Formats: sequence, C-alpha cells, structure tokens
Amino acid sequence: MNTAELHINAERLREDIDTLSHIGRREDQGIYRMAFSEGDMAGRDWFCRRIKESGLDCYQDGAANLHARLDWNEKIPSVIAGSHLDTVPGAGHLDGALGVVCALEALRVLQETNIDLKRPVEAVSFSDEEGRFGGMFGSQAVAGLVTPEYLHNACDLDGVTLITAMAERDLDARKALRAQRTPDSIHAYVELHIEQGPVLDRQGLSIGIVDAITGLFKWEVTLIGAANHAGTTPMNMRADAFQGLAEFAGQIDRVLAEYGSPQSTATIGRVELSPGAANVIPGRVVFSLDVRDTDSHILKALADALYRTLSAVSRRRGLRFEFAVLSEIAPVQCASMVVDAINDAVNAQGLAATHLRSGAAHDAQIIAGVAPAGMIFVPSKEGRSHSSAEWTAWNDIEAGANTLLNTLRRLAA
Ligand SMILES: [Zn+2]
Repeated sequence: MNTAELHINAERLREDIDTLSHIGRREDQGIYRMAFSEGDMAGRDWFCRRIKESGLDCYQDGAANLHARLDWNEKIPSVIAGSHLDTVPGAGHLDGALGVVCALEALRVLQETNIDLKRPVEAVSFSDEEGRFGGMFGSQAVAGLVTPEYLHNACDLDGVTLITAMAERDLDARKALRAQRTPDSIHAYVELHIEQGPVLDRQGLSIGIVDAITGLFKWEVTLIGAANHAGTTPMNMRADAFQGLAEFAGQIDRVLAEYGSPQSTATIGRVELSPGAANVIPGRVVFSLDVRDTDSHILKALADALYRTLSAVSRRRGLRFEFAVLSEIAPVQCASMVVDAINDAVNAQGLAATHLRSGAAHDAQIIAGVAPAGMIFVPSKEGRSHSSAEWTAWNDIEAGANTLLNTLRRLAA
C-alpha cells in the first residue's frame, strides 16, 4: 500500500461493528432494527454516543437522519459518506451498518491525522432505508422528495403511521419537510455497502466500484379467464389463466434477449391463483413482475415488449388482462468525479477491484438527484443478504473501509 494512503484503526472499527451487531439482535433470528422500533432507537443512541466520544458533533435533521460532522461550515459544500442503521426484520449485521460505521471511522482518522481538508466531511445514517414505512425516507427528505401527502400516507404493514411511530419517539415527522439540502450544499456523496450479490465473492475481489444503480418497474398483472370444472371442460374450450401466465413466463427470456441488456433482469416473484382448487380451472391469476436495468431506454423497451407479449398471449388464450404499475425507479449513473476518486484510491492501495452495477436500490440512488454520488461495494459471502447469514471477510471489510477513507480524503482535499 502506498504510504501516502491513510489507514483506518482496525481494532476500533472491528469493535464498533461487533457492538452494533448486538443491538436489536434476537437470539438466532438476526437483527431487528426496523425504523423507529426499540432496536432502531438503541442503534441511534449508540451511534450518537460514538460520535460524541470521538469529539465530533452529532446533528439530527428533520427526518431524524443522524450526522457526524467534521470541520462543519454551512457555507462550504460538504463531502458526505452515508448509509443506514435500520434493518429489515431478521437482518444480518452489515447491510447499511457497515457504511455508517466505516464513515464514522473515516471521520475519526481524518480528524486524528489532522490533514488539511478544504471541505467539511459528514458521516450520515439515513432513516428508514429498508422500508418499514416505504423506504428511503431519510434520503428522500434530504433530496426534497418528501411531501405532506407522502407523510400523510406512510404507514407500516400493521397500519402504524410514520407520524405516530415518530411521535412515540418524540420526533415530529413534519419536520422532514425542512430536511432538504440544496445541491450547492453537497460536494459529493459516497456510500460503502455490501454487494448483496455474488459477483465479487465469485471473482475473489475485495472491492467493487459501482458505475450505475439499476432502475426498475414493478407491475401487478391480472389475467382473467373462466373458472370451470377440470374434468368436464375440454382443453380447447378453456380460458385458463394459469396457462396464460405460464406461456407469458416462458417468453421472458426471449424478450430479455431481444430488448434487454446482459444486465437486465425480470422476475415473477408472487403468484396468486384463484379459485385455487386442484379440480378447478384457474379463472384468474394475479402476479408480480419486477424488471430492472441500468438504462432507462432499455427499461422502456422492455416494458413495451412485455406489454405486447401479455396482450398477444391473452388474445390467443381468450383471456383479459389488467395491470397496475406499483413502482418505477429511474436508473442512476454514478458521477465520474466520485467514480474516479474511488478508482484512484483503489489503485493507490493496490487492491483487487472491478467495476460493476448495483442491482439493489440504495440511498445513493436518491442522493444522486441532488449531488454527484457513487458507491463502493465489498463482497457478500455467497451473495447472501437480508438474512442473518450475511457475512463479509474481515480483510475485505478493512479494504472497503480504507477505500472509503481515502476516497473521502480525495474528495474533500
Ligand atoms: Zn442497505
């Protein structure tokens, strides 16, 4: 490693990751730090304490995002490293947490080494990334995407509203409307995250330099035929909704080959057949369709082609179809300024790295709307994530933390 490159304090970082991994943990079931739950609040308290113990300021904005700030000066655009401390139920210890803890460690090292930085540096933990109340709440507030309607409608699966959940923690959700940062207040945003996919692990590489984050569309499709007796209705007199789904699903590979890119994905992850009896022809099927790519033109071409395919299959089989767009997220190209800084830091440290795309959504995708943004990935063992089996080797964590630190130093210099 180039001697000019900075090093994180491995022992301190390891201790922080370990301590945080016990907060919100239920024995053998993983971590439960869903936004504004007991576990999340305990994680927040711990993070604030660690910030203050480092001699840094802990600032909480209107969306309850927590910021550690080094050399804060509101007149100078800051360099932000961030991710999230909240988790899905039964989570592993690295998704989100790694990026937040390594960001704080980077600030501590920058502070201790006393090098001259031109810009303030912030380590941020964004609220509700994982979606108890819809997801990306904190980063959307910073990007100015949270509206009064959003606040009014946000609720969890049990019907608890975001406003109530925050009020129970003495937080006023309406203040999120004032958490917006202007583009000229952020110089750059970097997020270190586990890959949550198998690419780096398979290739035996420590670092992934993310070039783009995939966009997606999610549809809920309904095929409507006629439910009828499975024994008395001849095959040529049926309108079998499941056969329609099966034919459509069989066309997906062809549609991706014709209209997609090598990165395109399409997934039918949920299917409901009705009436749902072994001796009844399914008259109706409702299924989800999740399609992703990093190019918005390709996404549009895929949407058109999948629609045409659905329509052709339905016509041929005497079915009607309806579909609803559940969500659409635009793909994001990472900013070359940030990608170059990561590349430079990786090369100077002589680390084994590759460029890749992110197939999952992250806060970086939202922040990219207001500031140049980029991401650093470290391997996920066997690609596992959103599970207590989530694991990354320590030398890869250290490589990721050092890459984040030296990227921040470059961006802030
Ligand atoms: Zn995450």
